Amino acid sequence: MSALSSSTDEKIAYGGQCHCGAIKFVARSDKHLVAWDCNCSICIIKKNTHFVVPCAQFVLLREVPPEDRLNADEAHAAAKGSAYPGHWGLPPKIETRDLRELPGGYGMGSTTLANWIQDKLDIDSGPSLVEEADHGSLSLYTYNTHTAKHTFCRHCGVQCFYHPRSNPDGVAITLNCLVPFHEDSEIRPFDGQNWEDFLTKSGIQAFSKE
Ligand SMILES: [Zn+2]
Repeated sequence: MSALSSSTDEKIAYGGQCHCGAIKFVARSDKHLVAWDCNCSICIIKKNTHFVVPCAQFVLLREVPPEDRLNADEAHAAAKGSAYPGHWGLPPKIETRDLRELPGGYGMGSTTLANWIQDKLDIDSGPSLVEEADHGSLSLYTYNTHTAKHTFCRHCGVQCFYHPRSNPDGVAITLNCLVPFHEDSEIRPFDGQNWEDFLTKSGIQAFSKE
């Protein structure tokens, strides 16, 4: 169990990444996710089904060095066999021989492992704005009103999150980029071809408010 899943407001921590693993993020949202299947000109091409969280509930992790990247297949495999949340990746390969209590209720283990767990817990508990992150693997695409900020990985091309035009004060996270996959999701249609009319009707703007 991650440190965040015990929070009182029934929010849980999610982790995810692009395909190559250069971009990783954590976010907090409801256990039951509401995701949007939009038919606007760009979402329909990308098949981008996304859920929206307030900016403060999203953390873009520091750039992952190439040697520490797990591609999507490896990340899902690691999440399956590990006692730790999937977005943490793999625990350190080499550990010291000392034994101590691990943070986060993970039992006993080495100081190396304890430090690794504490780093991950610190990251998960420290919300920050996307704009603050210095991340060389992110590219940006904008068009038309240039309100939506379509961020994507410049290596693998995957857009695992972006700032949507409907919620410029929030982050839209691609549902299929979560590691592990999240089954408890409700997919709602978003009529992006009639964007102005549908925006208020949809109620999507509430999702980026705290
Ligand atoms: Zn990538």
